[in-house]
Amino acid sequence: MKQYDYLIVGAGLYGAVFAHEAKKAGKRCLVIDKRAHIAGNIYTEEVEGINVHRYGAHIFHTNNKAVWQYVNQFAEFNRYTNSPVANYHGEIYNLPFNMNTFNRMWGVVTPAEAKAKIEQQRAEAGITEPKNLEEQAISLVGTDIYEKLIKGYTGKQWGRPCTELPAFIIKRLPVRFTYDDNYFNALYQGIPNGGYTAMVEKMLDGVEVRLGVDYLAEKAELDKLADRVVYTGPVDAYFGYKLGALQYRSVRFETETLDTDNYQGNAVVNYTDAETPYTRIIEHKHFEFGTQPKTVISREYSAEWKPGDEPYYPVNDEKNGALYAEYKKLADAEPGVIFGGRLGEYKYYDMDKVIEVALDVVGRELA
Ligand SMILES: Cc1cc2nc3c(=O)[nH]c(=O)nc-3n(C[C@H](O)[C@H](O)[C@H](O)COP(=O)(O)OP(=O)(O)OC[C@H]3O[C@@H](n4cnc5c(N)ncnc54)[C@H](O)[C@@H]3O)c2cc1C
Repeated sequence: MKQYDYLIVGAGLYGAVFAHEAKKAGKRCLVIDKRAHIAGNIYTEEVEGINVHRYGAHIFHTNNKAVWQYVNQFAEFNRYTNSPVANYHGEIYNLPFNMNTFNRMWGVVTPAEAKAKIEQQRAEAGITEPKNLEEQAISLVGTDIYEKLIKGYTGKQWGRPCTELPAFIIKRLPVRFTYDDNYFNALYQGIPNGGYTAMVEKMLDGVEVRLGVDYLAEKAELDKLADRVVYTGPVDAYFGYKLGALQYRSVRFETETLDTDNYQGNAVVNYTDAETPYTRIIEHKHFEFGTQPKTVISREYSAEWKPGDEPYYPVNDEKNGALYAEYKKLADAEPGVIFGGRLGEYKYYDMDKVIEVALDVVGRELA
């Protein structure tokens, strides 16, 4: 009999949910992570009393009541509502596009006036078959919103001008004809008081965790410890990249502590002009209504990904989709291993979806 029922590779949200449920069912679990901390990409680290989202801003939002109740076992969530603002050369616009945005842009007051303005600009542009992202955006929301809020930002995100990007990237643009600045259409939303790391710590309460352990470097030895493996690392790395490397889009964060209590007055400010080199500035304390004397900000730069960089967003194009399908065949045929999570399934998952999938998989596993 082996020492553990499950070796769980990755102490991120997927691994933590799996481990919590398996332990509750009496299974012996060992969780390992190659990083020096738990919580994977939702890791928050305290700096000057502020919970800093080290791998990018994370806002919990869901329409799934069961998932909301599930996470509330491990943390109390605050009432944070994501309402980003756009800064275009010092002009401030509310996001997502809503009546506040249109009032600032054109001075319109009623939804009918806003709709008429958008319609007028769409008609003037006269685009019937958009050939690129620029034409697509103008045909959806008109020239003013495109010029000030989409053109520079999207160009920076993709590292190319909108005229060189395909139209299909933006199939639709959410436009809201109410004075509602709430970014997400979710029934439940918030940030765990005390940060995500404390939440994951509670999930892993009583579970053995070893940090700084790279599964792939010690696979043979580690496999001897457990009957089954739950692998939440990159699927292509597991198979030694033998079919080639899956690609990701990356983000570079430049984080700085500032000697002021309030730098920008909002957690998320998008810089939508082309000249500012970063896409957003995150001011972490505002996620938790912090009143600390200092502040921590992160500037986000879109970056090309190369093997060895931190993988962030899977690339959903045909080439990578087809390559993943081949890796999935290998994964399905791998005895005793469950591949899960954003890297194991090469899929962009919001946190609520990762929890949903992990609960489903562990439920079937333990049934
Ligand atoms: C920039 C960004 C912003 C986001 N913002 C939001 C948001 O606002 N709201 C939201 O709901 N979701 C957000 N997400 C999604 C969220 O980050 C994911 O849903 C979540 O992190 C997925 O958890 P996971 O356990 O699948 O993966 P991860 O958190 O990546 O965990 C995998 C773990 O496996 C470990 N690992 C990998 N290989 C090995 C190995 N060989 N040996 C040992 N350990 C290994 C890694 O170190 C990592 O800790 C965002 C994602 C990104 C990229």
